[in-house]
Amino acid sequence: MTLFSSLVPSPGHRFPGHEEAPSRFQYLGDWESKPYQVTLLPPETAPREAVTAVHSEHMLQRFEVACRQGPGITDYAPTYVTPSSFNDAFLAAGATLLCTRRVLEEGGSSAFALIRPPGHHAEPNASMGFCLLNNLAISARYALTQGVERALVVDFDAHHGNGTQAVFSDEPRAAFFSTHQENLYPFRTGHIEDAPHARGRILNLPLPPRSGDAAFSLIADQVLVPLVERFKPGIIFVSAGFDSHWDDPLADLGLSSEGYHAFARCLVALAQEFCAGRIVFVLEGGYNPGAVVAGVDAVFCAMAGLPFQADDPSPYPEPDIHDRLAVIRKLHKLP
Ligand SMILES: [Zn+2]
Repeated sequence: MTLFSSLVPSPGHRFPGHEEAPSRFQYLGDWESKPYQVTLLPPETAPREAVTAVHSEHMLQRFEVACRQGPGITDYAPTYVTPSSFNDAFLAAGATLLCTRRVLEEGGSSAFALIRPPGHHAEPNASMGFCLLNNLAISARYALTQGVERALVVDFDAHHGNGTQAVFSDEPRAAFFSTHQENLYPFRTGHIEDAPHARGRILNLPLPPRSGDAAFSLIADQVLVPLVERFKPGIIFVSAGFDSHWDDPLADLGLSSEGYHAFARCLVALAQEFCAGRIVFVLEGGYNPGAVVAGVDAVFCAMAGLPFQADDPSPYPEPDIHDRLAVIRKLHKLP
């Protein structure tokens, strides 16, 4: 079983004082010291038609002009662009696509695209929330053109993946399940009752701060497993955001690195049972570089079937989320 990755650190995409910075990647890439073996794919720019299958031409033109005139802030998040951002975003989307192609071509393989700028807030007609192009959605859309009948997207970033939800809002071949901290950016989406037209297919689970590892273990058993058993995806995509770590400066969702490993192990096991092993992790947020590298290691170990140990348990008490799980299970009629 091959583990693929592609690394896009985008050093030119940076803005003074902004958390979404190249320094997020400062500990990534030290492959020799790892217990797992990764086959690195040199990143390639995404073909324009793969990107326009998700984003409008109008948006791309606006984005390209903003980059040419950059550096500058494009929204209140704040999202920024620089003269290199257009190419960086196409490289991030292309690297994710390359990982996806290899996973589709090689049975039993899996991949983790380590790319920035991130993507899950980017909507069909707008970049937003530090995200320029929706890397994961572009790849999931591509997989659906390659004979994959159904794709599941799981988003464990601390923020709601509003862009991915918007892309697949009316796509019956895609399911979307997002866990995120309640009352956090982008605020207007990600409520438990969102997307009433797509019950059972678009699932949102806003969580109280410091929910932590025990919560994610329950979520895996009570939501993720029954969802996969019912939807029967041919591939799983994961928006892997390490800002759900308890020590992230922008969020407070309470996961530890071992919690990431347990959740990723469940995702990988489901992919092995239902998708011939096909799973593609895509990096989203995560603003503590130490937590990012630990989370990336946790996911690779889960992909390789290796144990994982880290010494970073959450120091905070964890709230009980049973009531919330009962609500989401009832809303989506999970067995
Ligand atoms: Zn995030």
